[in-house]
Formats: sequence, structure tokens, C-alpha cells
Amino acid sequence: MTVSVRMREDRNCQWRVAARPADNVRDTDFAWHEEPIPVPREGEFLLRTLYLGVRPVMRMYMQGIAAAGERPLEIGDVIHGRGVAEVVRSQHPDFSAGDIVHGQLGWQTWKVSQGTLQERFIKMPRTAAPFVYGAGATGMNGFSAYGGLIELGRPAPGETLVVSAAAGGVGSTVVQIGKILGCRVIGIAGGPDKCKLVENIGCDAAIDYKNEDLAARIKELCPTGIDIYFDNVGGETLEIMLENLAFGARIVLCGSISEYMRNEPFGLTNYTRLRRVNGSMHGFFVYNFAPRFTAMADQLSAWINEGKLQPVQNIIDGFENMPGALADLYAGKNTGIQICRVRGEPEECAPLPEFGEPR
Ligand code: NAP
Repeated sequence: MTVSVRMREDRNCQWRVAARPADNVRDTDFAWHEEPIPVPREGEFLLRTLYLGVRPVMRMYMQGIAAAGERPLEIGDVIHGRGVAEVVRSQHPDFSAGDIVHGQLGWQTWKVSQGTLQERFIKMPRTAAPFVYGAGATGMNGFSAYGGLIELGRPAPGETLVVSAAAGGVGSTVVQIGKILGCRVIGIAGGPDKCKLVENIGCDAAIDYKNEDLAARIKELCPTGIDIYFDNVGGETLEIMLENLAFGARIVLCGSISEYMRNEPFGLTNYTRLRRVNGSMHGFFVYNFAPRFTAMADQLSAWINEGKLQPVQNIIDGFENMPGALADLYAGKNTGIQICRVRGEPEECAPLPEFGEPR
């Protein structure tokens, strides 16, 4: 995508919805907007954005769909998005200047917040640095992988776990947690480079669904069936997995990116396979795990510190490049957790600009 705008420190720069995406997102779907840095009142705090996560669901937000529990966006609204930010001024009792949080920031470089439940700002301990992990590995991406796999997939050592979009953000984390828990893990990814990555992070085998016969390879690699299928893509891939389930199999429905750009749903024809194997298929929304976010973040951080979990991150520099970063997800160009470095770690930030007086 072509970018002709430039972020300024002394303005709140935003990306807003200009048009509803018809296909993959394109330049004309986004509008750049600048306004003064907002000033926090009593009960509010000012955040400067350090990193923003980029997720497939953001295209749905732009279409006006009330996805992921967020308010449907109108044309002209700031696009929803979670990320990591530093509190730089506060008139709120629970937040102080210097705190690092992750939560709902929107596609903008500054935000004033009242710390609402919907924004769900979670403080990151100083020991959690680098704080980029809050935009994925120890944030919602990690929670989706951890909660989806452990709470719904209920893996046991020796079981066969199949993961789609295995080189992506959630997928690469699920693969590694599956290995930590002693599973035999098969990753599905698009292209030889992604398959190599999937093997490097621990998969026992990788299937290149763009160049191999997925149905034949799954049969070959899972002769006694799949115990857990962690689904990030839906559609044809899910249908093939349903044909190859072991007795008591669990399918975890995390995402269905292959369906997001279809006008008509794919329409599974073989879901009754679940009955024959006494299996289950369980969808989830990451906020379901909210009561356990802190415990999950602690465990994910511990695995990272022990070297058992290596976050795979695809970091794009510059807030200007957010639209292209979103388009890349649908083109399969990302490897790992898609993150935009807006300013980077707190010590990398420019000096604070002059602010107006609190209102
Ligand atoms: P991601 O996997 O890093 O990126 C998307 C990947 O999907 C691409 O890299 C691409 O990998 C694959 N892909 C794109 N178009 C595809 C298609 N038509 N068919 C098959 N694969 C396709 O994204 P993520 O943020 O980690 O999210 C993964 C999934 O989890 C998404 O479906 C997302 O919506 C979902 N999710 C759900 C929750 C929840 O609360 N349930 C939370 C977070 C994410 P290849 O090159 O390998 O095809």
C-alpha cells in the first residue's frame, strides 16, 4: 500500500474508516486524521501508544460488524485495536504516569481513557519487558492460544494436535504450548518458508496446504486420527479435519479467516462426524478467559523466560503502515504475531511534547 502521511509527535494521529472493505482492505478504505493531543480531566489518564497489534478481526470492524464484542464502527470512526501504551499523565486513582498497560487504544497515537471495562487496560509489570509482548505473546494473542488450547482442547501428553495457520500469531503460540505439554504437533501453513518456521518452533511435521494435498497428508500423518484440532481458518480445512478425528476428539474454534472475505459461508457438510467419534467442537471468545488473564500472562512470561516459548513476531515499523499491515494478514504475508511499532519501548520514545493544562 502507498503511504504519503507521516506521524507527528505533537498531534494525535489516527486511522479512521473511510469505506467498507469489499475484498481485502485497500488504501481508499482508510482515512488519515490529525487532531490535538487530548487532555485528561479528573478521572482520566493520557496514554501514548507504543505498539499496536494487527488482527484479522479489524477488517470486520471496518465492515461495521459488531465483532469481538466491540461497538460497530461507522464511516469516519477511529478503527478499533488493542496495543501497548505508557501512561504519561493521570488524574485517575488507579493509573499513574509511567505505568505500562495493554488494552483498547484504537488506531491512534494518543488516547485519553477513563479505564472502562470495555477498554480492559491491563497493567504490565516492569519485569515484563520488553513490553512489545503485551501486544501479542503475553496479551490477547497468547491468551487465545493458552485458553483455547488448555481450557478447551484439554491436551494430554502423547496426543496428536493439529494447528492451522500454524506460522501465524495465535498458531505459532499454540504449536509451542502443545509441545510444552507433550503433544505430537502437526502444523498447517502456506508455503515452504512458513513450513520451515513451523518445524523450527517444534512441530513434528508441517503441511504446506498451498502446495500439498492436505487431505492425503493428514491421513498419512495422523493414522489413528486427530485428538485436538485448533482451528484458525475454518472452511475446507475444517471439513478435512472433521473427516480425520480420533475417538473423543476436541475441535477448538478460534478463527475462520478463510471465511471472512466470503459473501456466503462455506457451509460444512460433515459436522455429524463429531457424533460418530464422541467428539466436541467448541468456539470461544478470548474475553471469556478474562478472570484468568493475569495467571495466563504469568505462565506465558515464565515460559518465555525459561526459553520454552519463543514469541514469533512480525514487527512493522511506523504507525503510517497500519493499513498495509492489515492487508498483509489476508495475503498471508505475515509470519508470527503481526505488530506495528508506533514508538517502540518506553526508552525509545521522543521527549514528551508540551501539553495543554488539564481541563
Ligand atoms: P495470523 O494467523 O497471524 O494471520 C492470519 C494467517 O491466516 C495468515 O498469515 C495466513 O497464513 C492465514 N490465512 C489468510 N487467509 C487465509 C485463507 N483464505 N485460508 C487459510 N488461511 C489463510 O492471525 P492471528 O491474529 O493469529 O489470528 C488467527 C485466527 O484466530 C484468525 O482467524 C483470528 O480471527 C482468530 N482469533 C480469534 C480470537 C478469539 O477470541 N476467538 C482471538 C484472536 C484471534 P498462511 O500463509 O499460512 O495461509
